[in-house]
Amino acid sequence: MSRRWLFADQLGPHFLDDRRQPVLLIESKAVFRRRVHHRQKAHLILSALRHRAAELGDQAVFLRAETYGQALRKVREPLEVCHPTSRRALDFVRGLDRVTVLPERGYVTSLADFAEWADRRRGALRMEAFYRFAREHHGVLLDGGDPAGGRWSLDIENREPPPKDGKLDVPAPPMPKEDDIDAEVRADLDRWEREGIRFVGRDGPRRFPATTKEAKARLRHFLRHRLAAFGPYDDAMLSTDPWLAHSMLSSSFNLGLLDPMEAVRGAERAYRREGAPLPSVEGFVRQILGWRDYIWHTYWYFEAGWRTSNELGARRSLPGWWNDLDADAVDAHCLSDVLAGVRDRAWVHHIPRLMVLGNYALQRGWRPAELVEWFHTRFVDGYEWVMTGNVVGMSQYADLGRMTTKPYVGGGAYINRMSDYCGGCRYDPRKRLGEDACPFTAGYWAFLSRNRDRIPGNARMARTMKQMDRLADLDAVVAQEKRRGSDPP
Ligand code: SF4
Repeated sequence: MSRRWLFADQLGPHFLDDRRQPVLLIESKAVFRRRVHHRQKAHLILSALRHRAAELGDQAVFLRAETYGQALRKVREPLEVCHPTSRRALDFVRGLDRVTVLPERGYVTSLADFAEWADRRRGALRMEAFYRFAREHHGVLLDGGDPAGGRWSLDIENREPPPKDGKLDVPAPPMPKEDDIDAEVRADLDRWEREGIRFVGRDGPRRFPATTKEAKARLRHFLRHRLAAFGPYDDAMLSTDPWLAHSMLSSSFNLGLLDPMEAVRGAERAYRREGAPLPSVEGFVRQILGWRDYIWHTYWYFEAGWRTSNELGARRSLPGWWNDLDADAVDAHCLSDVLAGVRDRAWVHHIPRLMVLGNYALQRGWRPAELVEWFHTRFVDGYEWVMTGNVVGMSQYADLGRMTTKPYVGGGAYINRMSDYCGGCRYDPRKRLGEDACPFTAGYWAFLSRNRDRIPGNARMARTMKQMDRLADLDAVVAQEKRRGSDPP
């Protein structure tokens, strides 16, 4: 049996053919020299890799080197590797003698099945259509040939604002216990910082699983105690509770610690055997077998240049306060709290990412490619394949709608409805002009005004554009937002 080279995001048992298969693991320092990572993300990657090496013991050759190339020069035997997760890494392994590249693992639908489905379709490749295909293809949440509950998506039932008392009645997710490996990682990162490798964000206790055992424990706890509340509060934001009922398993899937199909089947079992509410179960399944897989597949199916799409002509670079996660420089309560969440935990859930961070960047006209890099390096679950679709396609509308029917841009009213932020803010979500004009509300109109000729016309946008034409103060709002520029709001 050939030795299997596992990248640091291919760490679970489902990346091996046999429990005793010989393994190669490589820790490359150059990865951290090349780009500035969040300190907690660097910690998680190193901790997961070193934990896997410790688990495998003599079964694994574990090499620490500056680059992959340097490490590989020490290995004489033939190797095989599962399809890596970035174009750069794929090109690299394909260019190596002695290395056989195998099909990808760690996703529900194969690249070949996605390509066959996509090639058959005419028009846009929407997530909803792929999700339906994947449910049918893998037989998930079906009653006969029909979707359980009669509809493919029950999302409409999952849009509750946060509870008024600021507390969701679910047990907190279990946190991993750090061990000697984490202590060693922390000491190494301290030393690397002294040597000049730069990280951002605060160090903190490791909050995300570094082993398959930890990831499975978190999944079990989620399915038993938190899944029921996940659906209704999926989109809610609370300043007092960053986790709400989210599974916090995205980094575990993306490190390859947890097989996504195991989570999908577990959620379906919770519905069929334990009576978990279908809207919550369906919402969780859609995130994994639908959205996560869709993002993975579009990264490979669309051309490489998709990553740098910038069809709205966004020209501003990310400002320093944003790059450095300087939440204290920001007055706007929502943005300050979310940025502090990234700084302190390297994680916030998908709505703060989309409707606070992404929305703010889109309104300001910041370069999408820089934002892909920012999300990639600042989040524990960030990878190029994850952030290309989520940022370029979804949040920044930089490809003019290959994934979405309209830009995900919104004013303060949305944030006010879905969070507890606005009550304690110096801005007023209803105001677009003046000292206390909400930067999101004002930015919304300024964005639409700036891009009205670039955004393709459709029925959903037509009404909004008409509404904008009736605003007597539009020019003043646009001028105000120009003055505000990229200063912290
Ligand atoms: Fe955010 Fe505007 Fe609400 Fe303040 S008023 S919290 S800036 S949405």
